[in-house]
Amino acid sequence: MLAPPETGPALSTSEHLALVEAVTAHNYHPLPIVVAEAAGSWVTDVEGRRYLDCLAGYSALNFGHGHPVLLKAARRQLERATLTSRAFHNDQLGPFALGLADLAGMDQVLPMNTGAEAVETAIKLARRWGYDVKGVPDGAAEIVVAADNFHGRTTTIVSFSTDEVARRGYGPYTPGFVVVPYGDTAALRSAITPRTVAVLVEPVQGEAGVIVPPPGYLANVRAACTEADVLLVADEIQSGLGRTGSTFACELEGVVPDVYVLGKALGGGILPVSAVVSRRDVLRVFTPGSHGSTFGGNPLASAVGAAVVELLRSGEYQERARALGEHLTSLLELLVGSGLVGFRTRGLWAGVDIDPARMTGREACERLAARGVLAKDTHGSTIRLAPPLVVEREELDWAVAQLAAVLTEETA
Ligand SMILES: *Cc1c(COP(=O)(O)O)cnc(C)c1O
Repeated sequence: MLAPPETGPALSTSEHLALVEAVTAHNYHPLPIVVAEAAGSWVTDVEGRRYLDCLAGYSALNFGHGHPVLLKAARRQLERATLTSRAFHNDQLGPFALGLADLAGMDQVLPMNTGAEAVETAIKLARRWGYDVKGVPDGAAEIVVAADNFHGRTTTIVSFSTDEVARRGYGPYTPGFVVVPYGDTAALRSAITPRTVAVLVEPVQGEAGVIVPPPGYLANVRAACTEADVLLVADEIQSGLGRTGSTFACELEGVVPDVYVLGKALGGGILPVSAVVSRRDVLRVFTPGSHGSTFGGNPLASAVGAAVVELLRSGEYQERARALGEHLTSLLELLVGSGLVGFRTRGLWAGVDIDPARMTGREACERLAARGVLAKDTHGSTIRLAPPLVVEREELDWAVAQLAAVLTEETA
């Protein structure tokens, strides 16, 4: 193989930060770490420092960086065909969709690229189903969503966000959404009207801080949807594909939604791959030309997606998430009271609330990074921990030891 071309002298961390500050929009406030390489659960920065990745691309890297099976699938497909558009067929989409539908216990797949696009697809699907199948008067469809949701960044999706930072300044907002408190079945039931076409919900709210709803909530939502002839759309973009200890977080509650929305880990950490997965009697409302995507279902994405499905089929990653998650829970329990005020876990996924009197979540993440652990704060004083599912138990021990040290060390 040819060596990559020399790209000139390597930039230092501060030079990279200055460059990015100058030439990119400031819609993010990243930790001051410049990743150069990554493998498995570890990343290396441009200075050669190593960090345990306890964010894993918000669960896009459930299988770690550069999983050999996924790289092999991607490399093989890179040499064959990468993009066809849906104007023609490609030989990768069918097998990928078959595997994904089977994994989800559904009939059909609509492939997209990013998570937000898949959520948009589910919204269009629900509305069209509402008009064509349920008989809702045209233009009157309502979708019930939960407060503190995160479903993406498009104008329609931020229209029903309750996060002012994500929403402010982007009006006029798309109508047709009703927001109810998360975890409140009574509020959800009373929000459902004859015009309701769907309930769109995260089985665990990731961005909000790994918020786990009360036991029985999802089952009650399922029952309410069934009774009212409303589609239950589960946004499992972050909770799905192994993270929670099962393939889908809905399974933990014994719930089968009408529509799964998937993304993040579906692309194996290599490229964006998302999908809406549902039954044939729902997805049939789409007709040629009524929805689409230039890149959706492309052969490279399909090859990687199929390899992801194959990894999940063994159940190995779900089992790892379950066992490592139990271990993480027992480690975090020991920290409650010493700088940690509370936490929630679902599989290998934790929302850790630190004492705001001691430091902000941002400051805790900066201190963690200085100790070689990458994590991300959310909503002030919560840190989200979501290491790749390939992380070793001893690495988890070490990461939590760093967290313990950060929470108890002297603050300025
Ligand atoms: C990340 C995320 C999205 C949006 O995915 P993008 O690929 O960033 O567009 C939507 N829903 C949930 C639950 C997510 O975690």
